[in-house]
Amino acid sequence: MNKKRWFADIIVDISSEKLDRTFQYLVPESMENQLQPGMQVLVPFGNGGRTIKGYVIQITDRSSFELERMKEILQVEEAGNSIESRLVALAAWMRGQYGSTMIQALKTVLPVKQKMKQKEERWIMLNITQEKAEELLELYKRKHYVARQRILEAVMEEKQLSYSLAVNKLHITGNVLKTMEEQGILKIRSQIVYRSPVQEVCQNEECFHLTEEQQRVADGILEGWRAGDDRPCLIRGVTGSGKTQIYMELMDDVLKRGKQVILLIPEIALTYQMVQRFYHRFGDKVSVLHSRLSQGERSDQFDLAQKGKIQVMIGPRSALFTPFPKLGLIVIDEEHEPSYQSETTPCYHARETAIARGRLEGCPVVLGSATPSVDAYYCGKTGSYRLFEMDHRYENRNLPKVDVVDLREELKEGNRSILSRKLQEGIRICLEKREQVMLFLNRRGYAGFMSCRSCGSVMKCPHCDVSLSVHRHGKMVCHYCGYETRQPEKCPRCGSPYIGGFRAGTQQIEDIVKKMFPQARVLRMDLDTTRKKEGHAQILSAFANQEADILIGTQMIVKGHDFPHVTLVGILAADLSLNISDYRAGERTFQLLTQAVGRAGRGILPGEAVVQTYQPDHYSIQAAISQDYVRFYEEEIQYRRLLGYPPASNLFAVHGSCIEEELLDTGMEYIRRFLKKVDNGNHLRIIGPAYEPVSKIADMYRKVLYVKHEDLSQLLKIKEKLERYLEINSGFNKIRILFQLNQ
Ligand code: ADP
Ligand code: ZN
Ligand code: ZN
Repeated sequence: MNKKRWFADIIVDISSEKLDRTFQYLVPESMENQLQPGMQVLVPFGNGGRTIKGYVIQITDRSSFELERMKEILQVEEAGNSIESRLVALAAWMRGQYGSTMIQALKTVLPVKQKMKQKEERWIMLNITQEKAEELLELYKRKHYVARQRILEAVMEEKQLSYSLAVNKLHITGNVLKTMEEQGILKIRSQIVYRSPVQEVCQNEECFHLTEEQQRVADGILEGWRAGDDRPCLIRGVTGSGKTQIYMELMDDVLKRGKQVILLIPEIALTYQMVQRFYHRFGDKVSVLHSRLSQGERSDQFDLAQKGKIQVMIGPRSALFTPFPKLGLIVIDEEHEPSYQSETTPCYHARETAIARGRLEGCPVVLGSATPSVDAYYCGKTGSYRLFEMDHRYENRNLPKVDVVDLREELKEGNRSILSRKLQEGIRICLEKREQVMLFLNRRGYAGFMSCRSCGSVMKCPHCDVSLSVHRHGKMVCHYCGYETRQPEKCPRCGSPYIGGFRAGTQQIEDIVKKMFPQARVLRMDLDTTRKKEGHAQILSAFANQEADILIGTQMIVKGHDFPHVTLVGILAADLSLNISDYRAGERTFQLLTQAVGRAGRGILPGEAVVQTYQPDHYSIQAAISQDYVRFYEEEIQYRRLLGYPPASNLFAVHGSCIEEELLDTGMEYIRRFLKKVDNGNHLRIIGPAYEPVSKIADMYRKVLYVKHEDLSQLLKIKEKLERYLEINSGFNKIRILFQLNQ
């Protein structure tokens, strides 16, 4: 028998859309042990046989054409540890981890270079003297021209303001700017630039002085690095404890050593104030990515990074792939945010991928959050991350006062309104004082659930401990295991007839509030009102400009934005998100509530929060009210252990979708049988297949099957076997299969 030969798929041009075109070469035996995806190699190309550079994207034992005609790789480029090759290696890791194709992974990771399209950026400057401006400011304050006041203050301070930042982040409309320009107060200049020319750097050393607690954390991290500890670091620090301050300290250290930094921030938290703090400290080393940039603009930014013209990239998830030549640090702020999870193939998680990139490039990773994901905190507790904790706010600024209202008691006492008496009273007082109110409906997702308004109990799956979803025809279904049962007519626990799905949406709440407080100006923010392109920003700027007294919304309203005049936050039904059928419901609820409560009293005015709930004793709600992360974690991890959910165990999901329902049923059943067969030690727990929470999208039926196993490496092996099985069985051609690991 012939010796087994290996083949390498090689890309010779990664500069453009030609990524789809790979060429296969024979791997010389001498290279077999050495060759890795990402490596830069020299290969003969074309009929003339000229030698060109290429990147190995995949090594396989299956040849795509006859051996006789296949050419060999000439050599591995020793100096080929370029940024491209490191990103190709990252793509290879993503392909293995998330099960996409190599092309999809490459397209996600590599900067698609496009012809440089120059971008015209406008800048706002003061056109009057500082004294005149001060006078004008007083006038604006007297007349309550809040928008003008804000822009004037910003220009007086910054000297030069980016027009788009002013509009998007300061919430100033184009009309206001135009009027002020016509009045000769402002100058608006266009210039062709790449990025902000903000040169004002905070020279005042005072700004960089860390508190003792902050210094302890920063020193701890730096000492570990110097000692060669390359574990990721997790900073759990309550909101306002100065995590950002620490990031800047670490970044400073890295920059001084001539390396570069990527800072990930969820888009929604990427506020003007946030970015400004980094400009102040690091000046024009800093650049920002956000989703409003065009492809061309993104590619400009990446080009600057690659050429060493900027050193710090701030941005959402995709900024992780900034091609810095000497990456020295990746920071992920608000590490727990769901937006770090990509929803398109490859469905990568930015945290895991950052850690993989860090490993490939020898660069440390720092995570920060006030409410870390249970996954990350678990790693911190078990030693695979280094954990640092800060429980004090800077200058001990106070947290808002929290009142809890038991909605079951409200019902008992005859109040059937969605607004408790306590909350009604709070709103009334707030309106009298001309302060602002935010009402938060903690609703998420699609499927409704059943609960009892008298005793608060929720109808759950007896096998999975997640809520059952209400379907048509009076059925309730578990989306993990497929368990079905009929909707009861009375509460199985207390016998009350007041059971049903909680259906009130933001629209109904708006109607109720308007009826109850006819004098109040009410704004609503949800998927309906933000569908238009700038809808989101418009509503936020109107509220920031105090054009409304009450803002009603879903989770969109609780993140990132600081409204200094908000003194009351009402959480209408804190347990709503507890009842989504997801094992992380408790975690999401804790995070959302902690954030929502933290919205009140951001300015000088003291804040108050009213939390309404049917389950005042639930640990997620209790812990959020007392802002006690550790208490929440201890309870939550016990629950995960008991039921075998991540991070205590490993969970692997196989999502299938198909036009034909029957085909999908059969396919998923075959997968289940295959898994049973390969599981010889009987260590797997297979759950399902069951319909997904949304059982059909765009005519595609959707089912999911979960596999639990304590040992991750075993689970990965089984996944690989399954991938092979799917590849060779043509019966699966019409079924789209997507894998997710521990999500
Ligand atoms: P976090 O990121 O943990 O929410 P921040 O870094 O944003 O906290 O700090 C909260 C506020 O306290 C910010 O306005 C920041 O300027 C201020 N602050 C925190 N630490 C310091 C410090 N050492 N010196 C000056 N101001 C600080
Ligand atoms: Zn009941
Ligand atoms: Zn179940």
